[in-house]
Amino acid sequence: MIIIKTPEEIEILREGGKHLASVLFKLKERVASGISTKELDSYALKLIRDFGDEPAFLNYRPMGARTPFPSSLCVSVNDEVVHGIPNEDRVLKEGDIVSLDLGLKHKGLFTDMAITVPVGKISVSNQKLLEVTEKALQIGISVAQRGNTTGDIGYAIEKFVRLQGKYGIVEILAGHGVGREIHEDPYIPNFGKKGKGEELIPGMVIAIEPMINNGTKNVTIDDDEWTFRTADRKNSAHFEHTILITESEPEVLTKL
Ligand code: MG
Repeated sequence: MIIIKTPEEIEILREGGKHLASVLFKLKERVASGISTKELDSYALKLIRDFGDEPAFLNYRPMGARTPFPSSLCVSVNDEVVHGIPNEDRVLKEGDIVSLDLGLKHKGLFTDMAITVPVGKISVSNQKLLEVTEKALQIGISVAQRGNTTGDIGYAIEKFVRLQGKYGIVEILAGHGVGREIHEDPYIPNFGKKGKGEELIPGMVIAIEPMINNGTKNVTIDDDEWTFRTADRKNSAHFEHTILITESEPEVLTKL
């Protein structure tokens, strides 16, 4: 069931989205060669608590999962696509790309955001991968207009990415409604057909999150049962915003 948020809920989501963007901005500044992914997770939790908010992913257990997610922040390095588990032994090094995905609960309501950050100087192909993925998100957001559909978002993202080169669009993971829960209807794939899917209605709040691989679209899951990794072990990037569908232009809620 798709939930249309009330004006009061939207105001809280705006506040929460600001907090989340601020936390990710500070995490981004902390990313450097020599820091462990666990240190980033601990810092994320501290920043969230400083706002009086709660982490959405810590102990989150989606349907079908055998174990809850053990951390606040998903940290996915290089060929890890999403849901990487922070670890004190996983230390970032020059040339890595690292995806930081974070959900935040503010006054009972959820927002969701992700960025992929370079560690020091990165290769030209990694730089292009980050640019393509971030632009794909912007294009997805630009068509998140009333009267359009979830399929229009996927279609626009897919069309753009296909024109950029031989990239793989991850198909088994997708964007989603967000707000009262961290994952709500509708399901928003990063590929699709114009006019298909659910109609976008003012008051809907959705997370758009293209995951783009520098090779095959196929992914595998590690023995930890959480970490998605590209099947060909080429790198992957991920950008996400929480968006409000309005009467006119889409409003990005996860912004400073
Ligand atoms: Mg999400």
